[in-house]
Amino acid sequence: MTQAGRRVRLLASVLAALAVGCSSRGRSPGGNAGRTIVEASPRAVMGTECVLKAVVPADRVGEARAALKRAEQALRRLEAVMSVHLADSALSRFNAAPARREIRLPAELTDLLRRAASFTELSGGAFDVTCGPVVRLWKRCAKAGRQPSEEELRQATARVGMRHLSITERGVTKLVAGVFVDLGAIAKGCGVDRAVEVLRGSPAVVGAMVNVGGDLRCFGTKPDGGSWRVGVQHPFREALCGALVLRDAAVATSGDYRRFVVIAGRRYSHIVDPRTGRPVEATHSVTVVSLPTAGKAPSATDADAWATTLSVMGPKGLALLEGRSDLEALIITGTPARPEVHMTDGFRRLLAPGTGINLE
Ligand code: AMP
Ligand code: MG
Repeated sequence: MTQAGRRVRLLASVLAALAVGCSSRGRSPGGNAGRTIVEASPRAVMGTECVLKAVVPADRVGEARAALKRAEQALRRLEAVMSVHLADSALSRFNAAPARREIRLPAELTDLLRRAASFTELSGGAFDVTCGPVVRLWKRCAKAGRQPSEEELRQATARVGMRHLSITERGVTKLVAGVFVDLGAIAKGCGVDRAVEVLRGSPAVVGAMVNVGGDLRCFGTKPDGGSWRVGVQHPFREALCGALVLRDAAVATSGDYRRFVVIAGRRYSHIVDPRTGRPVEATHSVTVVSLPTAGKAPSATDADAWATTLSVMGPKGLALLEGRSDLEALIITGTPARPEVHMTDGFRRLLAPGTGINLE
């Protein structure tokens, strides 16, 4: 990631965090009297900004702090298993392993790989966590200030594909050498879900918001009984372009403004089409909301994976959401001068009353 990329990403995260559930405290006439919000902003979780908030009765602040600590620990445990940036993570050990050797992995990692495989299937290969060789190739070439050659792209994409992994109860095996799994498109959402499960498990916590680098999930209400407000980042400048009003929901955003590499003055998205090996160009921002349905809680993991999937597929991917009441999405394409907004009807209904997406 470039310095500029890092700065924009940091700002985006901070903006999202600021926009989320401003820390109102205290009493309200709505039966929520005496509730308060307790916040934690642990440093460098999953390589990004992280904000955790718990709403509790005012006399149970100690329980809120303990629950927030446990939620943070859950996030760090998951990072220690799934990060490609930590050399001794279970995922890094798998990535370093040779072909045809079965590697035993923690169940949570195997489960997430299975879930990732279902997204690959559903999206016809637009989402693929084995895109590591391609992602790493673009980063390497950016450092050298050049584009990858056709031959380099061919070699990298030849090692991409979930068919190159065998996943069984016993372990995971690479079927060809050089496979490299990168969970960057789904692990943050998974972490958010874990942290929310921890907070839900605390009897004192009646509402919460977990935000890891802009991917978030909330439940319950703010102390005053109001819904959580979540800002939608403007893809072309440092501002918000909309606000969602949510109760029990998960939200993830993927955007080419968040992380990118620069080659010869041109920006290339960190999201690639695994089938061609080329960075996504037409889609600038995708926000996905996961909502509860009968028997199923909202899923930040799903929202995260869908946001990346729709970044690759573009607006035509919205057809996959038709008839689904658990997912709503916003896609921004076009140019800063002529932006194009595509959204599901349900997404529009989640925007703050009387507002829309404003890309001025
Ligand atoms: P996100 O910000 O959630 O969209 O995730 C983007 C990250 O996921 C990138 O930085 C890559 O590490 C990885 N990635 C890029 N393209 C894809 C893709 N098509 N499918 C799965 N993971 C991807
Ligand atoms: Mg994602």
